[in-house]
Amino acid sequence: MSAVAFTRILSFEDARRTIEEHQTCVQPVATEVVELLQAGGRVLADPIFADRDFPPFPRSTRDGYAVRSADLSRLPATLAVIGEIKAGEKLTGVPLSVGAGEAVSIMTGAPVPPGADAVVMVEYTVGHGAGVEIGRSAAPGENIVPQGAESKQGSLLLDRGQRLSEAAIGLAASVGKAQLTVYKRPRVALLATGDEIVEVAVTPGPTQIRNSNSYSLAVQVRAAGGEPILLPIAPDEPRALRRLIAEGLQSDLLILAGGVSMGRYDLVEQVLAEIGAEFFFTGAKIQPGAPAVFGRCKSVVSGGSQTSPKHTYFFGLPGNPVSTMVTFEVFARPLLEALAGQTPRELGFLHARLKSEIRVKPGLKRILPAVLAGQFENSEVELVAWQGSGDMAALARSNCYVVVPENRDVIRAGEWVAVMIR
Ligand code: AMP
Ligand code: MG
Repeated sequence: MSAVAFTRILSFEDARRTIEEHQTCVQPVATEVVELLQAGGRVLADPIFADRDFPPFPRSTRDGYAVRSADLSRLPATLAVIGEIKAGEKLTGVPLSVGAGEAVSIMTGAPVPPGADAVVMVEYTVGHGAGVEIGRSAAPGENIVPQGAESKQGSLLLDRGQRLSEAAIGLAASVGKAQLTVYKRPRVALLATGDEIVEVAVTPGPTQIRNSNSYSLAVQVRAAGGEPILLPIAPDEPRALRRLIAEGLQSDLLILAGGVSMGRYDLVEQVLAEIGAEFFFTGAKIQPGAPAVFGRCKSVVSGGSQTSPKHTYFFGLPGNPVSTMVTFEVFARPLLEALAGQTPRELGFLHARLKSEIRVKPGLKRILPAVLAGQFENSEVELVAWQGSGDMAALARSNCYVVVPENRDVIRAGEWVAVMIR
């Protein structure tokens, strides 16, 4: 029987808060330099500053004519065209600026010449020979982005801790960063437990189950910025379990799946307690995933001839596959992101209208597989039919989770509900 003296069952919010407190205690592993093309999805370790003003010159946002807006007080106005500027060029010849009664033909992305304070779109003009007739007035500044309006030289563009999206990569390219310093991916040991669990390639006996949790977790770990390390399946036997846990604690984070419920062979907490683990919670009032465990444990790391003690965080996630995936997402992922160097952020929920009523017993935060469908403001969300937290097929048919607050028993069709996108 599980001999853990310590139990600490938290509400979902308190469990989340506990993780948030520990997010601030962890340090990213180390940094490395990667090519810009390989840096998408990585976490920036060195801030990036603007190497010059952006835009570096007052930029025309339209094809048309650069003018003095005051010349368009009476319409139509006929102006003398004194030159042309393409993107990448500037006004040449004499004069070098636009005077009263003058206009310059200008293309999108080209620098607006001195003297002009607006660009009139070509659609509102008729060119004749050396002149142009303009049929619309323009406010000062119209169709011009002033020099430095997007960012000033030396200003912070991307801070460390930011996950590099396509926009961030584009921005880094625009300031000449061919390589970026990013945090190394933390190594995350994945340990599936259970006497009934066999490897994927094995034909299971009539009562055996193939290990799926290590594989779904590996995908989630990668998506959160970690490097999964699959350990061999641990049997429900203390000595072997203890050896594999000790091995897993050598990584930057250990995630166990299975063996944390109240059954006679759920040994994970017992073995962790025996090796001196500290537990922050041993359960949370959620469904699925109530038995989830979070803690940390001292381990001895050997690097070359040096050995040094360190604390490794661990999660003991329940083994039912949907529970494993949900509890990773709401508990393990935020801590892993912090280990990966990412600045902590709120869990992301969207809101959508419920398509059909939900009835549950109150008292648990429920995170239930659902399908969000329909376009734009017509989208609706509906729970998928499922057989409970072992039903991976139902989860694979879903594309999100609906989050049901613990104090609700009925949520009617048409109500707005929180949705966690997968
Ligand atoms: P446990 O959390 O160990 O009580 O396991 C709960 C349920 O999840 C049992 O039906 C297990 O067979 C199943 N399960 C546990 N570990 C895995 C795994 N790695 N892959 C697939 N199913 C699992
Ligand atoms: Mg088990």
